[in-house]
Amino acid sequence: MVVFKFGGASVKDADGFRNVADIIRNHQGEDSLVVVVSATGKTTNALEEVIDKKFMNTSDALKELEKIRISHQHIISSLGLDNEDTLQQLVHEHFVEAEWIIEETREMNYDYAYDQVIAIGELVSSRILEATLKSSGINTSWVDARSLIRTDETWREGRVQWNITNDQIKDTCLPLLTQRKVIVTQGFIGSTAENNTVTLGREGSDYTAAIISAALNARSMTIWKDVPGVLTGDPKVFDNVTKLDRLSFMEAIEMTYYGAKVIHPKTIQPLKNKNIPLNVRSFIEPQKDGTIIFGEIEREYPPIVVLERNQALIHFSSKDLSFIAEDHLAELFKIFDQLRIKVNLMRNTAISFTICASNQRAKIAELQKKVEQQFSVIIDPDLDLYTIRHCNETMLPKLLSEKIIILEERIRNTVQVVVKNAPDIVHKKH
Ligand code: ADP
Ligand code: ASP
Ligand code: MG
Repeated sequence: MVVFKFGGASVKDADGFRNVADIIRNHQGEDSLVVVVSATGKTTNALEEVIDKKFMNTSDALKELEKIRISHQHIISSLGLDNEDTLQQLVHEHFVEAEWIIEETREMNYDYAYDQVIAIGELVSSRILEATLKSSGINTSWVDARSLIRTDETWREGRVQWNITNDQIKDTCLPLLTQRKVIVTQGFIGSTAENNTVTLGREGSDYTAAIISAALNARSMTIWKDVPGVLTGDPKVFDNVTKLDRLSFMEAIEMTYYGAKVIHPKTIQPLKNKNIPLNVRSFIEPQKDGTIIFGEIEREYPPIVVLERNQALIHFSSKDLSFIAEDHLAELFKIFDQLRIKVNLMRNTAISFTICASNQRAKIAELQKKVEQQFSVIIDPDLDLYTIRHCNETMLPKLLSEKIIILEERIRNTVQVVVKNAPDIVHKKH
């Protein structure tokens, strides 16, 4: 069997759903198919606004939710599925679930509420995809990903409990696949032992597809994107990028770890463990080969650039001028882990320690509060972090021209540079 994953860009409107249905139809053959789908277009961002508003003004939150409902209704109408009563009823129920959470007046943990509401993006889009496939005669079965993926209660970043997850996936999916059903399920969401919805972190649908692929020993997994494959840089940011036809698992892990947004960083490991090839292909040109990620053999790679925007340098220095030694670092890293602050780069001197991390103001404020007794903290916000793998010397000056270099690290042929942009060149393509 094989697993396909379609992201938000592929189902942003009715034509998108039709295109996805065509791709699925064209791949029905010897292999059985599990399809993992994300929320449509930018729905997850819109739902994040709804949740923010819930904690400020309930009626504003409901108004935002209504806009999302109307945009989905529009897609349903354009697909000619208006009279599908079951679809309409199911979609209605998902929106009602979200309304309950929004209207709940008891005090509620933000991250918990977030997961309960945000999941409806994936639930509704997968219902629409199921109905689209059915209406074009494809034998389909909708599966609730919350009955497949079991996590702990780390809201917004559920940690997968592998044994039960693998069992649930096999028990639910194998009988359906034997009946030659195309399984349609959601990315990004899972459930706790108490049946509360939990999410796997933004962009987590790729990860869901990998978890399912690994549990079912898939022959391959394919993620269908709006790019021809994995490129040497983000085409929305850099000119002159080229497609990489093949990547080793290791190179893909490194690229995504450094922030290459094309694949969620947790995706590769479960696939590598089971030796399952990952294809990255274009849903716009589905007839073309994309990138295949597989194997251990390293080849010659061209320079690959990853840009992480909106970074901050956080400088810690000991208040009593004592050396920042291993015990201090151990304490700091414990707090980073608690707050789930990902360190993208670090550097220490005798009495100071600096990290580069995503500039999440609320988290950084919390961090400051936790360490203020021991350390003075200075924040340098609004920075960009460039990571260049397989760097050659000619490209760096060009890439970094007009930028002020704040910090540079080099390990073998990977270079990381933290820079400040002049405000007027922030969005210029390279
Ligand atoms: P999905 O629709 O599956 O969620 P994403 O939008 O998360 O897809 O990922 C695809 C996007 O990743 C592309 O549109 C592109 O802008 C971005 N991207 C970043 N780095 C790369 C890269 N190295 N190669 C290809 N695309 C990249
Ligand atoms: N819809 C979720 C998000 O936008 C998950 C995903 O698309 O992978 O983050
Ligand atoms: Mg995405």
